[in-house]
Amino acid sequence: MTEIKSLTIEELKAALVDMGEKPFRAGQIFKWLHGGVESFEEMSNLSKDLRQRLSARFSLTVPVAVRKQMSRMDGTIKYLWRLHDGECVESVLMRYKHGVSVCVSTQVGCRMACKFCASGIGGCKRNLSAGEILDEIIFMQKDSGETVSNIVLMGTGEPLDNYDNVLKFLRLVSCSEGIGIGQRHISLSTSGIADKIEKLAGEKLQITLSVSLHAPDDETRSSIMPVNNAYPVKRLMRACRYYFDTTGRRISYEYMMARNKTDQPWQAEQLAKLLRGRPAHVNLIPLNEVAESPLRPSRPEAVRRFQQALEKHGVTATVRRRLGPDIDAACGQLRRRELRERQA
Ligand code: SAH
Repeated sequence: MTEIKSLTIEELKAALVDMGEKPFRAGQIFKWLHGGVESFEEMSNLSKDLRQRLSARFSLTVPVAVRKQMSRMDGTIKYLWRLHDGECVESVLMRYKHGVSVCVSTQVGCRMACKFCASGIGGCKRNLSAGEILDEIIFMQKDSGETVSNIVLMGTGEPLDNYDNVLKFLRLVSCSEGIGIGQRHISLSTSGIADKIEKLAGEKLQITLSVSLHAPDDETRSSIMPVNNAYPVKRLMRACRYYFDTTGRRISYEYMMARNKTDQPWQAEQLAKLLRGRPAHVNLIPLNEVAESPLRPSRPEAVRRFQQALEKHGVTATVRRRLGPDIDAACGQLRRRELRERQA
C-alpha cells in the first residue's frame, strides 16, 4: 500500500481525481496529515465513504514515542519513535531564543561507520521514507505543542545515502499547504559523499549544506571516517567548491574537537589553508563522549586556541553550545541505549 504521507500535494491530487474525487480534497487531506491525525477517521470534513476508501488504498504511518526525555537544564526534548515495523529512530527538539529547532533522523542506523558516532555501530537497518522523516516533525509538533521553525538533518543516518527520500521530504516539509518550513531554515549535514553533493547542487534548493569535515588531512580523517577512503579531502573540497559555484550558498563545515586527534595547532593551520578563499563557516563541536569509542573531547583551552587560529586567518568559527547534556541527546545514543536494554 502507498504511504499517504510520502505523497506530494500534486500526487495526492492526482490520486483523488483517479478515485473520482475533486482535487481540492487533496488540500484538506494534506492539512490533516501534516497536523498529525492518527487515523483517516479523524478527517471530519470528509465523507465517511471517502475516509473508508482512503484507508483501503493508503497506509497511514503513526510513530509511537516509546521514550521521551526532557532536559531539566534547557528544555531540550529527545524522542525515540517506534515505527510500524518495530524499528526505532530518534529526534531532538531544541529551544533557542530565535525559535524551535529540531534534529531529525533519515535512516534506521547508518552505513558510514564514523569511529566517534553511536549511530553507525550496528550498521544501517533501512532507509526512512519521506513520510517517516516528515512524521518526526509532525509528531514532535503535536506532542510538544511547539511550532518548529528550523530543521537540521543531523540525526541518525547519512541523508545523501537516502537521496531520493530525503529530497522528497525536503519538498514536502517546505510545501506551503502543509507544515511549510522554508528551505532557508533547513540544514542538511553530510559525512561527505562528494558525488551526491554535486548531484544536490543541481536541485536548486535553498537549504544550507553542512559538511562533516572533522579533520583537514587524509590520514586523520580516514582514521575516523571510512568515507574518506572513497572521497578524500581534496575530492570532497572540489565537490564543495562546485556546490557553492552552482548554488551560491555558503557551506557550513562541522569540525569535531577530539583530544589529541583533531585539535592540534597544525590542523588549525591546515584547515584554514583548505578554506582560504571560500565562503565558509566552521562549527567547532566539542566531541560528545560515546561509551563504545575511545575518543575524548578536547580541553576547552584547545578549542579556544583552535578557534583563534582559524580567525587569525579570516575563517569564521563558532563553538557549538551543548544542549541536553543530561539526556543522551547526542547522535544515536538513545537508540543505542534502547537496543542495549532490549538485549539485557
Ligand atoms: N551523516 C551525517 C548527518 C548525521 S551526524 C553527517 O555525518 O554529517 C550529524 C553530526 O554529528 C555530524 O557532523 C557528525 O559527525 C556529528 N557527530 C556524530 N557523533 C558525534 C559525537 N560523538 N560527538 C560530536 N559530534 C558527533
